[in-house]
Amino acid sequence: MSENEVRDMIIIGGGPAGYTAALYAARANLNPLVIEGFAWGGQLMITSDVENYPGYPEGVLGPEMMADFRRQAERFGSEFLTDDVTSVDFSQQPLRVFVGDDEYQAKTVIVATGANARQLGLESERTLQGRGVSYCAVCDAAFFREKEVIVVGGGDSAMEEAIFLTKFATRVTLVHRRDDFRASPIMIDRARANEKVEFLTPYVVDEALGEEGKLTAVRVGHVDSGETRELPADGLFVAIGHDPNTKLFVGQLDMDDAGYLLTKPGSTETNVEGVFAAGDVVDHTYRQAITAAGTGTMAALDAERWLSEREGHPKVALAAPRPETAEV
Ligand code: NAP
Repeated sequence: MSENEVRDMIIIGGGPAGYTAALYAARANLNPLVIEGFAWGGQLMITSDVENYPGYPEGVLGPEMMADFRRQAERFGSEFLTDDVTSVDFSQQPLRVFVGDDEYQAKTVIVATGANARQLGLESERTLQGRGVSYCAVCDAAFFREKEVIVVGGGDSAMEEAIFLTKFATRVTLVHRRDDFRASPIMIDRARANEKVEFLTPYVVDEALGEEGKLTAVRVGHVDSGETRELPADGLFVAIGHDPNTKLFVGQLDMDDAGYLLTKPGSTETNVEGVFAAGDVVDHTYRQAITAAGTGTMAALDAERWLSEREGHPKVALAAPRPETAEV
């Protein structure tokens, strides 16, 4: 891999969106370089079983699935750099991406840096990830049929996850650090109306307790009195928000107040020509591997079309042209 060549495409991020974009781009002869991050694989690397990704009827381990995604992109000629991007310069063409002192140039960049679920920051939380500690009720609730679970947080996500979990769990205890909630009144009312949901405030989670590598209980502490309680639990769902990984792009790409990248409606185009964005870095609603993969596909198609319109690339036609550009 030459650092000086101007490539057709660089993809920043090695999760479902980045690898899927790479797969499509490689099959369109764009020879993408995926700068996948030192800890490649994204959020699925801290998940155990994935049972909701189509094509895996028996389920699959998150890290195995990401290795599959990566291998499939590699098969068609994607190149990988297992390192973290340290800065970018999108002020002019070619677009420039830096990894330390090394500079990489490309005509198009797909940003697929994802988002991270906020963590409580406990060592015991980290060791029990995927072993009772989860950050996604939609992904993992079905593993907690007839079990007792705890949800932490006081926003809409916490309410939504608590309500969703009642479809499976026998009891859901929602632990929040204040007596007031950030969630919208309608979501609070729905959670309160659900007889399986109990509220415990103002409490914080002090420790996730496990036996034989599985969560068995959670120790919580009263914020004012310091009184502690041990709550038996099979699951601990941490729902305290997400942070998109967009620090690199501040001042260069448009983002909303929460730091998510903004794309043009119905497209993956950002405000900078040649720069596209896909996956959880633009999505605070769905946050699923399948939706990230879907928008990764869209970004590759958009970038390929962008290149063809400028350069008449003799690339493989990937999809029908947009109606406004269709030849009649
Ligand atoms: P959020 O609104 O930022 O709420 C995060 C919650 O977690 C807050 O209650 C916060 O407590 C708590 N928290 C943060 N750090 C914590 C820590 N270290 N320990 C304990 N608690 C902590 O995040 P969100 O609920 O994920 O929602 C994000 C956005 O998506 C919001 O705009 C929300 O309305 C939207 N959303 C909408 C829906 C829906 O409409 N169906 C569903 C989900 C999300 P404090 O309040 O004390 O700060």
